[in-house]
Amino acid sequence: MRISTITNWAYWVTVVLTLLSGGAFIMAVRGADQERDAATTAWKLDEIAEQLQSAAEQTTEDARLYVLKGEQRYLAAFGGAKTQENARQQVIKRMDAGLLTEQERKALQTAETDAERLDAIEEQAVMDYTDGNVDKARAALLSPEHEEAQSGLLSSVTHFTDLVDARAQEDLRAAKEKADLWGLTAKALLALTALVFLSVLYFVLKRRVAQPLLQMSGVVGRLAKQDYTVELLADDRRDEIGDMNEAIQIFRDNGLERDRLDAELRKDRQIKDLILQLMHRLQACQDGAELAPIMARYAIQIFPNLSGHLFFMNEGRTVAVAASTWGAPTRSTLDFPSVQCWGLRRGRPHLSEIENGDVPCQHLEEDSADGGLCMPLAAHGDTVGMVYFEQSSGASDLLDARVYIELIAENLGLAIANLQLRDRLTNLAIKDPLTGLLNRRSLDENLNRLRREATDLPAALMMVDIDHFKRFNDDFGHDAGDFVMNQVAAIMTDVTGARGTVHRFGGEEFAIVMPGSGKAAVATVAEAIRVAVEKAPINYLGRPLGTVTISVGVAATDSSQPAATLLQRADQALLRAKANGRNAVATDWNVDEGFTQSISRRI
Ligand code: GH3
Ligand code: MG
Ligand code: MG
Repeated sequence: MRISTITNWAYWVTVVLTLLSGGAFIMAVRGADQERDAATTAWKLDEIAEQLQSAAEQTTEDARLYVLKGEQRYLAAFGGAKTQENARQQVIKRMDAGLLTEQERKALQTAETDAERLDAIEEQAVMDYTDGNVDKARAALLSPEHEEAQSGLLSSVTHFTDLVDARAQEDLRAAKEKADLWGLTAKALLALTALVFLSVLYFVLKRRVAQPLLQMSGVVGRLAKQDYTVELLADDRRDEIGDMNEAIQIFRDNGLERDRLDAELRKDRQIKDLILQLMHRLQACQDGAELAPIMARYAIQIFPNLSGHLFFMNEGRTVAVAASTWGAPTRSTLDFPSVQCWGLRRGRPHLSEIENGDVPCQHLEEDSADGGLCMPLAAHGDTVGMVYFEQSSGASDLLDARVYIELIAENLGLAIANLQLRDRLTNLAIKDPLTGLLNRRSLDENLNRLRREATDLPAALMMVDIDHFKRFNDDFGHDAGDFVMNQVAAIMTDVTGARGTVHRFGGEEFAIVMPGSGKAAVATVAEAIRVAVEKAPINYLGRPLGTVTISVGVAATDSSQPAATLLQRADQALLRAKANGRNAVATDWNVDEGFTQSISRRI
């Protein structure tokens, strides 16, 4: 209830109580008036009765004196007293109407009758005396009859005054009771008015105003210090204090909202800073192997509640393979055909919401209630990989993070595509497009490095030339010649393995550099290659191309033969192998002794 309503109610209740109290006071005063009236009436009646009695006594006295002494003045006094007594009787008769009760009236009538009987005796005695019957008159006034009339009058007057006094006492008691009752009522109402006034004053000022104001001032003080966790007044009161409380609540809610937005903004800035750092590092990566762990390291910092994998696509874009992992993802397999992922299939982000009925990716666990977000990584129109995130059960972080994940995915895709582009350009620069072997330029770099380093470690070089290669071109066509060259390149790469690098030197000539290999090792490998080529069945488009043989010239470093002359020496050895009938290995360290290797002649 509003304070103004309470005070209005209190005002009107106080006014009504005051009026009632005033009325009760008036009634009390009226009771006192009635009390006084009753006393006055009783006094008047008593007085008149007494006067009546004393007038009767006076007439008796005057009549007796007249009949005893016979003086005229007593006769005159008797006449005057008689007149007075009659006048009293007239007053009594008039009063009789409204003032007296039936009993009183009867008592009064008895007194009057007694007075009249006395009067009659006395008047007869006076008349007898005047007529000369002195004795009769004197006897009448002293007779028992007169005595009886006189005492009857006395007792009837006494009875009347007793009745009047008794009634007056009763009226007085009733009037007093009434006055007391109204007086008490008036006092009670006055006390009630005061109580209402003081209660309302207490309730309004202390309970409804002072206490809430004190509490609110504490709340406002804490809000001013930006402590928005402060508890507000709990009651939903609809008054002026309630209005103020509501305003404070709105202020607090606004503060909380501002705090929340500030926190969100700070978190957003922090995430964007981390994403920026990640982008800088992604752009500086040399290859995918370096990029993948960087992504994992930053992903866990940016999204502490999410886990996931970074997948790279294979060359044919048919299989996705996990390159790095963060957190502890459990729902996705680590490699899967790209068709198993709706994100990769559609080239769009896909949220596998198993609970909400969206189709889940096949590379995710089937019985998992929570899904995951698959974000394909695309750049230059090509899908180069996929970044996958999942959240712990029941959390909602994934949806909040989606916009940041899209931002990361865009940059991640570009970074991977740029690395792949760089790989391709590098390959173009250092590799021979026909055979996929390292080219002449990388051979030069390789030999230069060997020369620069000039370590004590041994190094060796083979020069390989396909025998009579021109014939393949001539007999089977240029494509068949290319095919033969590729087959020979593949055999040399297989046999050399990790021991060396195979280069296409030019035309149908090759150079194999073997750092760390001594003379014996390189001679063994050279012979193994020669044998492998000779024995390899080479068919092109289902047609056998006959036996392919190679001639190999081998050179190695030692204290007197540095790396700088390797190429030249190997080349001279190759010439010797050719000159000695081809399909042979010639070394540069046993020129005088002839060939150490067994030589198979072409058939
Ligand atoms: P030799 O045993 O003396 O080495 O005889 P050869 O026929 O192998 O040597 P020659 O130098 O006379 O011929 C080399 C031939 O290799 C000439 C050229 O047409 C061919 N050739 C060079 N490069 C390529 C190539 O990239 N593809 C094809 N198909 N042939 C090539
Ligand atoms: Mg040749
Ligand atoms: Mg040649």
